[in-house]
Amino acid sequence: MKNNQKFLALKVDVDTYRGTKEGVPQLVELFKKHQAQATFYFSLGPDQTGRALKRVFRPGFFSKVSRTSVLKHYGLKTILYGTLLPAPHIARKCAHIMRETLASGFEVGIHTYNHIKWQDYVCNKDFEWTKKELELAAAEFTLVFKDMAKTHAAAGWQINDHAIKIENSLMRLEYSSDTRGTSPFLPVIENKLINCPQLPTTLPTLDELIGVNGIDESNVADYILDLTAATAATATQVYTLHAELEGMRFKPILEKLLIGWKKQNHNLVSLKTIYNHLIQNQCKLPHHQITMGEISGRSGKVAMQGPVI
Ligand SMILES: [Zn+2]
Repeated sequence: MKNNQKFLALKVDVDTYRGTKEGVPQLVELFKKHQAQATFYFSLGPDQTGRALKRVFRPGFFSKVSRTSVLKHYGLKTILYGTLLPAPHIARKCAHIMRETLASGFEVGIHTYNHIKWQDYVCNKDFEWTKKELELAAAEFTLVFKDMAKTHAAAGWQINDHAIKIENSLMRLEYSSDTRGTSPFLPVIENKLINCPQLPTTLPTLDELIGVNGIDESNVADYILDLTAATAATATQVYTLHAELEGMRFKPILEKLLIGWKKQNHNLVSLKTIYNHLIQNQCKLPHHQITMGEISGRSGKVAMQGPVI
C-alpha cells in the first residue's frame, strides 16, 4: 500500500440475530464484488433487541424512514425478541456465518455480548459488571473462532473507564474503536496512558443523517461522498455501517458509497490495516482523554475523542 493513498476503513456493527444471519452474508458478497476490506464487529450473546430497537438506532429514525420500515428491516420476530419471544443466542445460532466471514478474508472483532444491556447500562457500571460483560463476549468469541479477539467496538459508542483499561490489561487487545473522533489516538484515563490505540469512527452514520436537514435515502450517499472528497490525502477515515441497515434495505446506498469512494482514490480497508500502517510507520499517536459528548443527529451522549493531554 502506498503512502499517498487515502485509507477508509469499513467498520461493520452487527447488532442483531437477523442482521448476522441475513445482513452479514450480503455485505460479504458486496465487499467481495468491490474488492473492499472491512472489520465485522459481532454481537455474540442474546438478541434482546425487541422493542428496544429504537435505542440501538436514533429514536425517530425509523419513523422518518417510513412507519412500516421497522417491520421491513427486521421482520416481526426481531421486534418480539426478548419480549414475547425468547432471545436467540446469536453466536450459538450463527457461528457458521461468523466463521465464514473470517474465512472470506475479513477481520472480525467483538461488538458486545448483549447489545441492549451494554448500551443502556455500561456508562454507570462498576469494574465487576464491566469485566463480566467483556469476559462473556470474549469467551463466546473464542468459542466461535478458536482464537482470542484482537479488537472491540463498543455498542452504541457507550463505554466506561473500566472497559478501556480492561481492553488493554485483561483482554490484551491490539486496538479498539469505541469512540467518535477525528484520528487515531492513545487514551488517557486518570492520568494513566492506556497502550491500546483507539481508531475512532470519523464519519456520520446513515441513521444520524437520514431524516435530518433534507437528507433522505436518495441523497445520503452523495452527502457522505462530499464529506470524504474533502479529506486530506493523509487522513484516515472510519465509516461505521450496520449489518441491519447497509446489509439489508440500504445495500444500494452502500454500493453507491463503495463505488464513489474508489473513484475518490480511497483504499477500502479493515481497521487492522490502519493499525498495521500506524505500527509500520512508527507513528507517534497523540494522547487524548475520552469524554462523553453529543453527535449531530444522534440523541444522548457517546464516547468521544476528548482534549489532548
Ligand atoms: Zn451496535
